[in-house]
Amino acid sequence: MSGLTREERVAALREASVVLVSACLLGEACRYDAKSKGSHKVIQALEGKEVVPVCPETGAGLGIPRPAVELKGGAGAEVLAGLASAAEVESGKDQTKAFLLGAELALAAAKRFGVRVALLKERSPSCGTHGTHVDGRVVRGQGVTAALLAQSGLIVVSDEDL
Ligand code: SF4
Repeated sequence: MSGLTREERVAALREASVVLVSACLLGEACRYDAKSKGSHKVIQALEGKEVVPVCPETGAGLGIPRPAVELKGGAGAEVLAGLASAAEVESGKDQTKAFLLGAELALAAAKRFGVRVALLKERSPSCGTHGTHVDGRVVRGQGVTAALLAQSGLIVVSDEDL
């Protein structure tokens, strides 16, 4: 976590001129179930800003639709540290490499466009910023991409902060 209060995160978002955003929040139907999570609040919060849309999971080559994935043994920071993994819920197929690649691609996009603030979809195993799915339940912690962005100094803001 960034250690910032909700008010501080929202203020950072308000002041940012360019923002990395989970593509599904912009209406892109890129979720595992081929749906979007388009949000009027998100669109309003981004008015007048440059937007860098990313979907770490599809960016890493996972399809639409795709099997739901959860983290195993820990949240995003533990996955980055090699102490936990990402796996398909139904089959158990390991998807850790894809999740790490998606996070790296999102970070590369942030660096390329000088992004300091990311607005991300809550509870996703990639994008969750306060909570994410670990071992069959939602726990406090970040998804893999949110954790990497936060560790790299970005301020990560949840759509539920708005
Ligand atoms: S939450 Fe993140 S990984 Fe999941 S569909 Fe949205 S942008 Fe893609």
